[in-house]
Amino acid sequence: MKTARQKKARKNLGFFINNFKFRPPFQILIDGTFAFAALENKFNIQDQLSKYFQAEVKLLTTPCIILETEKLCSFSKAITGAMQIVKQYPIHKCGHEKHSITGTKCLLSMVGKNNPSRYIIATQDRELQEILRKIPGVPIIYLHGKAPTLEAPSQASNEYARGVREELGMSAWEKENSITLKKAAGIENKTEQKLKKKRKKGGPNPLSCLKKKKKLRTEPSNNKTGVKSGKVKKRKKIKLAPHIKEALVNEMKNKQT
Ligand SMILES: [Zn+2]
Repeated sequence: MKTARQKKARKNLGFFINNFKFRPPFQILIDGTFAFAALENKFNIQDQLSKYFQAEVKLLTTPCIILETEKLCSFSKAITGAMQIVKQYPIHKCGHEKHSITGTKCLLSMVGKNNPSRYIIATQDRELQEILRKIPGVPIIYLHGKAPTLEAPSQASNEYARGVREELGMSAWEKENSITLKKAAGIENKTEQKLKKKRKKGGPNPLSCLKKKKKLRTEPSNNKTGVKSGKVKKRKKIKLAPHIKEALVNEMKNKQT
């Protein structure tokens, strides 16, 4: 039986499988903060993460992360355990072997602009998480107490994936074709005109609207005067003497013939 938590994890992981070509065994880069939290919560990283993902996972770290935890050990004995944990894992070369940098900077360099090695980053560092969310295709996992939590894809990941889907869904030829078809059908122009009209309707300031309303109000009164004008017309008719009418009618008939 899959738990709700596992289902959610599979769903979020599925996003990265579908859109960023993540494949098992999933490579998870562990930093000192995650190892420390795992130790505090008696969380067995290897066992529980493979259960969580229901897939084979490969836990990794970098020389910089190990060095950083080693340095921190001298300040806090609690970090020693975390150092021992990260030291168990295979090391992925990061290129900073001669001049080590902070774990945060190292992880960011491992991910680069688009995470080409498809790492899942395991960290409790909120500042690092914040930066990673801006890079498309970087899954972030952290511990919420004893519970591992794979974050839902970030906005950057979602936007990137949407862009790719649109590109795939509509080839350049189809795009051109759809534009010409729209033009042929007059859809594009009509919709544009509609938009323009809508903008104009929304455009005028309230004062000008009031004036229009006033005009509308005066219109019915114009109709009332229209009735009066009808009387005027009648008056004109009355003024026309029968013999003049006849003369006019005859004149019209003569013109027609
Ligand atoms: Zn490094």
